[in-house]
Amino acid sequence: MPIFEYHCAKCDKDFEVLVLGNQSVTCPDCNGKKVKKLLSVVSHKSDGEFSSSQGSACSGCSATSCSTCSHS
Ligand SMILES: [Zn+2]
Repeated sequence: MPIFEYHCAKCDKDFEVLVLGNQSVTCPDCNGKKVKKLLSVVSHKSDGEFSSSQGSACSGCSATSCSTCSHS
């Protein structure tokens, strides 16, 4: 979601707004257009460790599938 933080120079307030396309941003309090975009990260994306899904399926051998070994 493209949510950006703005600061209104008129009423000295910060506000977050969802910006869709090229719509102009106005202050929700005074409806003024003297707003300044703030550089803030709203959402943090955590880089989860990419774990391999191809672990050993069989506990008795190193095969990834028990269909290829004698274990059941
Ligand atoms: Zn304002």
